[in-house]
Amino acid sequence: MAQLTPMMTQYLQIHEEVPDALLFFRLGDFYEMFFDDALKASRELEIALTGRDCGLEERAPMCGVPYHAAQNYITRLVEKGYKVAICEQMEDPKDAKGIVKREIIRVISPGTISEGKLLESKKNNYLMTLYLENDGLGVASLDVSTGDFFVTEIKGKTKEQWLSQLSDELGRLLPAEVILNPALFKDPQALGLIENRFGILASLYPEKYFNIKNGSKRLLEQFDVYALGALDLERRDHAIAAAGALLGYLDETQKRVLTHIKTVRYYNSRDYMVLDLSTRRNLELTQTLRTLEKRGSLLGVLDKTVTAMGGRTLRRWVEAPLLNSAAILERQGCVTAFYDNSSRLPEFKAMLTKVYDLERLCGKLSFGSINPKDLLALKQSLGALPLISGFLDSFDSEKLMYLFDKEDLITDVWELIERAIDDEAPMVLKDGHVIKTGYHPEIDEFREATEKGQDWIRDLECREREKTGIKNLKVKYNRVFGYFIEVTRSNFSQVPEEYIRKQTLANAERYFTPELKDMENKILGAQEGLLRCETQVFQEIRDDLLTQIPRIQKKAKEVAQLDAIYSLATVALHNHFVCPEISDDKAIVITNGRHPVVEEMIGFDHFIGNDCTLDNDEQRMLLITGPNMAGKSTFIRQVAIITLMAQIGSFVPAEAANIGVVDRIFTRVGASDDLASGQSTFMVEMTEVANILKNATEKSLVILDEIGRGTSTFDGISIAWAVVEHLHNQQTIGAKTLFATHYHELTELESLKPGIKNFSIRLKDTPDGVIFLRKIIPGPADQSYGIEVAKLAGFPAGVTRRAREILGHLESGEDTYRQELLVTEPPMLSGEKGNQLNFFEIAQGMTKEEEEALGTIRDLKIEEMTPMEVMNVVYQLREKI
Ligand code: ADP
Repeated sequence: MAQLTPMMTQYLQIHEEVPDALLFFRLGDFYEMFFDDALKASRELEIALTGRDCGLEERAPMCGVPYHAAQNYITRLVEKGYKVAICEQMEDPKDAKGIVKREIIRVISPGTISEGKLLESKKNNYLMTLYLENDGLGVASLDVSTGDFFVTEIKGKTKEQWLSQLSDELGRLLPAEVILNPALFKDPQALGLIENRFGILASLYPEKYFNIKNGSKRLLEQFDVYALGALDLERRDHAIAAAGALLGYLDETQKRVLTHIKTVRYYNSRDYMVLDLSTRRNLELTQTLRTLEKRGSLLGVLDKTVTAMGGRTLRRWVEAPLLNSAAILERQGCVTAFYDNSSRLPEFKAMLTKVYDLERLCGKLSFGSINPKDLLALKQSLGALPLISGFLDSFDSEKLMYLFDKEDLITDVWELIERAIDDEAPMVLKDGHVIKTGYHPEIDEFREATEKGQDWIRDLECREREKTGIKNLKVKYNRVFGYFIEVTRSNFSQVPEEYIRKQTLANAERYFTPELKDMENKILGAQEGLLRCETQVFQEIRDDLLTQIPRIQKKAKEVAQLDAIYSLATVALHNHFVCPEISDDKAIVITNGRHPVVEEMIGFDHFIGNDCTLDNDEQRMLLITGPNMAGKSTFIRQVAIITLMAQIGSFVPAEAANIGVVDRIFTRVGASDDLASGQSTFMVEMTEVANILKNATEKSLVILDEIGRGTSTFDGISIAWAVVEHLHNQQTIGAKTLFATHYHELTELESLKPGIKNFSIRLKDTPDGVIFLRKIIPGPADQSYGIEVAKLAGFPAGVTRRAREILGHLESGEDTYRQELLVTEPPMLSGEKGNQLNFFEIAQGMTKEEEEALGTIRDLKIEEMTPMEVMNVVYQLREKI
């Protein structure tokens, strides 16, 4: 039986600690990967796959990357969703007795990256742990790069409830990586939601880490408090277990103390407007449906922030609109303060431009990866604080002052860096010139010695030229040979005897003298001392700054909020928004509202504003009819977006607006196939509508765009009708609703239900066809315009004529319509009974195989199948017939 080599045994043992990571195993100047890891990595990184004897009969597959270039490869793997464990040699191989000692020093995964190009500057990068026990969930989310740490609990009576709330949280925070306890990991629905619906890397973490006792201990230690009450976590066992596991996971994978994680904040998701995933997507809050980019989304319009921190804050605001009118007014008041002093906004922007990403600088400080240039960036940022303070003073706005603590401008840290760090300091320590002259006597001495030595060398060159008469004699330096005197071939005869030969080149000879050697030793010694001393002093400064992290973080948060407010004020000004009235009454009244994204796209002068009044009384549901492209979707979405913007504290695109705070906004828009979850379009649509019917309250705003389209017309109308009734009736829901529909039949509801009003979009007839006027008017739309639009779209004249004919029949009554149709219909489609065009009746007169095929289709449970499965069945059927 073949035996594994000792090194391979060590490799496999270490790999057992991180079974789900790719292990970068340090071997000399390379990180090597073996077995499955090697197969995966060679494929993903497109690097050569080789083999290595491992003691077994077959060579182990192997691939490797040079250690100095590893960062790039690691980034690429993490970007593709892998975890990478770095295993280093812990002793010099020369000193090792037997096999070199090796240990994992860090595990890098999408949720634990702290710097580098994988981090988007204006977006948080969360690592989330989830702990499920008895239908209760603990949720802990941490951005390792900034230290932002939040926890909450989700309590659902049923699994369906907690899954839906979990989906809302995932949709809001969009974590880069999720860690689950076994109970959750084993749940196929939960795992499917995380991995397939959201595409997030999910991994299992053993139950023992989700321990309330250990969790409490970890939290108390990390945050240096005596009781969990101080963290608002008392008796929140689910949250404690999740937060404890998160800290434990970081401890294990990062293996260093994370001093920048200074607080954990418990939040209640009921403090914010809950927005389910489809609503976030449909309203295109932070990314567009099609390109998934910020450009073209609401955030794309609102984000004029200057700093990265401000960008992240604004994104959080957009993702979590407020529910409390006092809190909304508070923020709105700050935006107004800036807005009212618009001429001074550029001045403030110039100050913000000086501020770097203070939160991520604190992260780097804590990770020990801060470099001299980063400290200069920190100094420059802190230098802006007194300016900001002075600016706010002159503003005389109490609301803004409240956001910024003037008492602590962290000038001491600024002064320390100003005194200590050279203004031209490089990125890396070993390049020297990091510490300013005058800061540390020893550094000054070494520096003087180096400089003196170099002066001496320059003098030596002049002296030797004079002495020898060799005009082009040079004293030079290189890393390998140190200092030397160089003489070209033509002058060899003049070289004095005391010169000692060091190196021969093609055209020159290099020499040294005892006194030159002596000075070289002095200079190199001084340089070495200087580097050692600079490094040490730099580290002392860094350690000193570590203790200042909480103060810097606090200021970072303050500046971030001011920046986000600055952004909202700037957009309000440029895009002609107004300050909405916020109230707790139930009406939403918008005068000449616009869609903030569409108007930016088509040009501000081209957008037609529209009014909207919704209350919980006589006008709680607007039914908007009209042909495609009339502007129905734009209108109903703009009402939702204006409401949401108002609850963020932003101004809104309208002439005037009064927004009664809503508890939730629901949308059911368009037909989006959810291929990832394997549901049919119609099933997705019905699930979303079901969600609305179950969760909407009379304080909600519901936006429905074309429901029931995925099924036959009669089914569709019936479903839509019943949904409208349920939403409208105060006994059931009574929510404010905007419903855009093609089904003209629904307009009858206005006369049956007191709260429903018909609206349509005005069109204008011209000899060349209709023109969309985009203006919302009371009353239902004229049906025939659908055909006009088809004509506009380039339908052949014969087809539009025929459509008009059929419409005429339809309008004149059902029975005649059917008979007429039968007369003119192509024979193939008419069934024997004649009066119903049932698909399955076409089966009569078919071959046996064709009939069987139809039978199979009839029995399919399409809603339980994936699109792929449906396609397979169709292929098989086609083979048969
Ligand atoms: P519908 O939902 O009725 O099919 P949309 O809302 O999708 O129509 O609108 C179609 C297009 O019309 C939009 O892409 C937009 O460019 C334009 N549009 C919609 N509303 C307006 C408006 N109020 N002012 C100007 N253009 C508009």
